[in-house]
Amino acid sequence: MDIKSMTLEELKTAVAEEGEKPFRAAQLYDWMHRKLAEDYGQMTNLPAAFRKKLMEKYPLTALKQVDMQQSGIDGTRKFLFALSDGNLVESVWMKYRHGNSVCISSQVGCKMGCRFCASTLDGWERNLLPSEMLDQIYSITRATGERVSNVVVMGTGEPLDNYDNLLRFIRLLTDENGLHISQRNVTVSTCGLVPQIRRLADEHLAITLALSLHAATDEKRRELMPVAFSWQLDELMEACAYYFEQTGRRMTFEYALVGGVNDTIEDAQKLTALAKPLSAHINLIPVNPIKERDYRQSGRSQIEAFKNKLEKNGINVTIRREMGRDIDGACGQLRRRHIPHISEERCGLTE
Ligand code: SAH
Repeated sequence: MDIKSMTLEELKTAVAEEGEKPFRAAQLYDWMHRKLAEDYGQMTNLPAAFRKKLMEKYPLTALKQVDMQQSGIDGTRKFLFALSDGNLVESVWMKYRHGNSVCISSQVGCKMGCRFCASTLDGWERNLLPSEMLDQIYSITRATGERVSNVVVMGTGEPLDNYDNLLRFIRLLTDENGLHISQRNVTVSTCGLVPQIRRLADEHLAITLALSLHAATDEKRRELMPVAFSWQLDELMEACAYYFEQTGRRMTFEYALVGGVNDTIEDAQKLTALAKPLSAHINLIPVNPIKERDYRQSGRSQIEAFKNKLEKNGINVTIRREMGRDIDGACGQLRRRHIPHISEERCGLTE
């Protein structure tokens, strides 16, 4: 296993195998996860011979910044990183009044095939390691010189399709010996993998789970999201109820409003019926049209009417604010521009 993905306990075992004292593990962990060292050379309080051994046995994962764009409107920064194997991932840094938020990718590409999403157009390449998810946050912290307080796993990839690595990532990110980000400040967004939602419920974490719902009937959901052929809405809602029951955490339902597809008052009514029993918060996203598909955004008045209907029904609802409009702010766009055979597209970068 790569050393930056090890828990402190696992690191202690690894260090003991090298014949070193246990306190070396704590030092090493501190360098990697708190001081955010990029290489062993920086770890000056470790014996040189030990560092050399580590370098040979456990090469440190590190990201190389390939590009960065900054918004002149709201200061949002979009980073493109190369992984050790040359694959590219995108992460976004957003400044809010309540702190800095980073949106990270969980996979290289995606296999879920949501019809409106640009991240899935070229399929799935591989899962990210826990350390590669952490590295996105660590690199951005170093680059901005500012603490990250919120993390959203909403970039490219389906996090629950990379379950074990995601869980390990969350535990390391929120560990008191690392960046110690509060679990309450971590959001994981899923397209709705039912068995994994149930499994996640059983972990009893205090994170927020966001479900990309996008439609309130099976028929409409299947049009937008192939994953809806695997599980029906009633099974999905049962899993969400189980999640709420087990964790006490209200879920967020994300709903991309697509003109003429899912934006009628009747849709709002059906959505209410799904959200109400779960006390779910609804986040409305005006869909970001991509060139390969002819989906379009709902009109302003349609969006307002949809929101008003939900509010009247007693649902807690927000319209997602778009950040970094003037940069390639949307998911997958910067990455796609750097891969020659792929054209520029907009996905849905938002709050
Ligand atoms: N796979 C996870 C997380 C990545 S997608 C998921 O499905 O939730 C992050 C969010 O952006 C999801 O809600 C997704 O449905 C939404 N999204 C993707 N493409 C979009 C687009 N073109 N317009 C608006 N939202 C989009």
